[in-house]
Amino acid sequence: MGDLMNCPQCGKLYIKRIRNTCDACYFEEEQQFDKVYRYIRKSENRNATIVEVSDATKVSENKIIYFIHQGRIRVKGFPNFTYPCDGCQKPINDGRLCQQCKDKLKSELSIEDFIKKKQEEALPSYHTDDN
Ligand SMILES: [Zn+2]
Ligand SMILES: [Zn+2]
Repeated sequence: MGDLMNCPQCGKLYIKRIRNTCDACYFEEEQQFDKVYRYIRKSENRNATIVEVSDATKVSENKIIYFIHQGRIRVKGFPNFTYPCDGCQKPINDGRLCQQCKDKLKSELSIEDFIKKKQEEALPSYHTDDN
């Protein structure tokens, strides 16, 4: 038995077992992955940008970046395919962080903490704890 949860993608109730989304969303995601994967595998698409891949496959850029972050898609050999570094938003085309952020990360705790900290820095500060 798993816990009953709302799917974070579509809001439907489902039983959480291994997956973080319901079956319908899981299969949709697999199809999207397949489309992107097939598209970038073709040698004539080697110079594609993320916008072109997104247009051709109808998969959102965020979803493509998500697949890259998962390590399921690699675009290292794609000269025009860049997406923002999780730390500083600089264009990169391998992993989650640019070299500069990777170097900085060595002294920090974990990639998750580092990204969280960076995202907090990017937000306007309201100083809610000053009261
Ligand atoms: Zn769902
Ligand atoms: Zn960076």
